[in-house]
Amino acid sequence: MNLPAEPTSAARREALLAWYDEHRRDLPWREPSPDPYRVWLSEVMLQQTRVETVRKRYREWLARFPSLEALAEADGDEVLKAWEGLGYYARARNLHRAVREVRDGYRGTVPDDPEAFRTLPGVGRYTAGAVMSIAFGRPEPVVDGNVRRVLARWNDDPAPSDRDLWEEAGEMVRAGGGRRPGALNQALMELGATVCTPRSPSCDACPVAATCAAFAAGTQEERPAKKRARSVPHHEIATALLLHEGSVLLRRRPEEGLLGGMWELPGVRLRESVDVRVALARGLAEEWGLEVLPGDELEPVSHAFTHLRVTYRPVCCGLAAENFQGDPDLVWCPVDEMDRFALPVAQRRMAALAGWSGR
Ligand code: SF4
Repeated sequence: MNLPAEPTSAARREALLAWYDEHRRDLPWREPSPDPYRVWLSEVMLQQTRVETVRKRYREWLARFPSLEALAEADGDEVLKAWEGLGYYARARNLHRAVREVRDGYRGTVPDDPEAFRTLPGVGRYTAGAVMSIAFGRPEPVVDGNVRRVLARWNDDPAPSDRDLWEEAGEMVRAGGGRRPGALNQALMELGATVCTPRSPSCDACPVAATCAAFAAGTQEERPAKKRARSVPHHEIATALLLHEGSVLLRRRPEEGLLGGMWELPGVRLRESVDVRVALARGLAEEWGLEVLPGDELEPVSHAFTHLRVTYRPVCCGLAAENFQGDPDLVWCPVDEMDRFALPVAQRRMAALAGWSGR
């Protein structure tokens, strides 16, 4: 068995940087002099969203909100609408709140101090490390899923702790005097995304294979060990496709929590084995004083959130009587104007099932 050469952070970082300079992908947020707002935006978008999707949406976003000031000035609904389809909407709400804090508390300049930056809404250790290193050249580490996998394989460690991972990533980014920290962090993530992939890693093309313990042991695919799948709760939501005089009833969700501030078709959770139409009519009456006449049930629409699976059961409804005038979170929206509202993907799919505007 070939044993790996003595692994050192300095040797690995030099090999990684040389590889990155030659092989890095051409991505729109990788600019010679990165603007902190753009780096921050790209890092927020890239959490939970594929690079190919972000490539397009990043450009669209900048066409709409070209600067931190422009985003800070925007209305909350406008921001959610621009984020539509990317999911995990808390990212957009937090970014919007955070840039407003930067505008008001830092004269519109993103703070280059990691401690200050981390006090902003939605900024965790990863985002702070990425923005500090890429935008400001500060030797701050990053650990994401890609980095975790690469480090676990280098060390042939089935279950590295978060503490060890951050320590090792920190050692590497500070080695060699902390030269080019942004490039180094991106190289590590890029290696995990394109070479040291979860399945069938391309070890033959890997710049650090000589110091990789898992490669030497032939255990690459077993590192890190897979976590046992969590059981995810499942909810069923009876949902009203309520059409009245050419308009659809929409409801704004509470600001906090899942899909906060987004608009949706009003619905109620099914908690017992009651007919979906009966449950919907009863729930809408109790919750909003709406008297509806349930009609056909359309095909269910399923959606998986991080910690929850939801099956929406859409039912076409007519209005018998309504009693919610003055509730700002319920609006009648003309069918052909639904695109004005920020609706989550599953809601758009239900609207499309009803033949309304959707995508
Ligand atoms: S040698 Fe293989 S397993 Fe090791 S870091 Fe490179 S790609 Fe990953």
